[in-house]
Amino acid sequence: MAKRCIICGKSAIYRVKDTPDFYCEECAEESFGDVTMLINVEEEAQRLKEFLKQRMEDYLEEEEGVKKKKKQDDDEQDD
Ligand SMILES: [Zn+2]
Repeated sequence: MAKRCIICGKSAIYRVKDTPDFYCEECAEESFGDVTMLINVEEEAQRLKEFLKQRMEDYLEEEEGVKKKKKQDDDEQDD
């Protein structure tokens, strides 16, 4: 779901930290003068995606490790 600028309603690309206020580039620059203090929505989404991907990879690795461990246990029982 695309976020909308709270001033003009265009697609927002910036968000004010710790608030639900979104701004498009123009309004962000007009309102704040400096957009470096704002959160880039796209970058934030990208970071979240990376974070989730990493979590998923960790989880899969763990699953794989559990399976391998189980296989080893089974092999040991065969002896
Ligand atoms: Zn705007």
